[in-house]
Amino acid sequence: MSQTLLITGASRGIGAATALQAASAGWQVAVNYRQDEAAAQQVVAAIRAQGGAAAAFPADVSDEAQIIQLFAAVAARFGRIDGLVNNAGATAPLARLDSFSAERIQRMLLLNVAGPMLCCREAVRRMSTRHGGRGGIIVNVSSAASRLGAAGEYIDYAASKGAIDTLTLGLAREVAGEGIRVNAVRPGLIETGIHAISGEPGRVARLSSSVPMQRGGQPQEVAAAIVWLLSDAASFCTGSILDVSGGR
Ligand code: NAP
Repeated sequence: MSQTLLITGASRGIGAATALQAASAGWQVAVNYRQDEAAAQQVVAAIRAQGGAAAAFPADVSDEAQIIQLFAAVAARFGRIDGLVNNAGATAPLARLDSFSAERIQRMLLLNVAGPMLCCREAVRRMSTRHGGRGGIIVNVSSAASRLGAAGEYIDYAASKGAIDTLTLGLAREVAGEGIRVNAVRPGLIETGIHAISGEPGRVARLSSSVPMQRGGQPQEVAAAIVWLLSDAASFCTGSILDVSGGR
């Protein structure tokens, strides 16, 4: 029986690339999305076209009730959940901290911190041998912003990813003896639609000369790191944070 992987925010960008590569590696993939059902169904169709198994599951992963429903729906469809990629996340309009509203900060922390933490909770309850599970693997998607701070752009986003790094370290140690590995990737500047949402579609081109490798990355290059961390090849990695940033 194939193992089941839930990827949050898998209708485009890094999540969609990870879904395709994970399916090629033998995972049956639960493709979560928030609103773009057509895009999510395209990812599912592409996986099925290459002979894999996948299904799409709507849920806003900044909402606890929808997260609980999402995990129940995936378990009902596939029978089990063996892997989780906490990928859904967003930046915010470029701004200095002295203009932030409380509402902006709360929205950021709900989606980028509380959501992944609650998804980890649901995963651990199903995977941990302490709860009668068979073990599992979690990969969190952080950002190089957690090291850089995103001054003048979105410090709230950078801080939310700092929380993801710490969540990864702490949870890895908490469940290491319960059959669960927990790791993170820290992408740098990657060519996806996230930059247009924060108001700067040309961000990667503008900043690529500041990247030691002199270019932005492709979502497939991040997906490859995630799928490796999910694999048995990474069997002794837990609490690891892998930079995928061209040296940035
Ligand atoms: P993206 O292209 O904007 O894709 C975001 C995905 O998340 C979409 O599938 C979107 O689905 C989904 N999503 C957004 N809000 C959601 C919610 N509340 N509930 C469920 N799904 C939601 O972003 P990306 O660049 O691939 O980013 C993926 C991850 O990588 C994020 O955590 C991001 O912070 C991180 N990252 C990206 C970069 C970069 O340069 N691109 C760098 C470092 C880290 P819908 O379209 O249906 O809303």
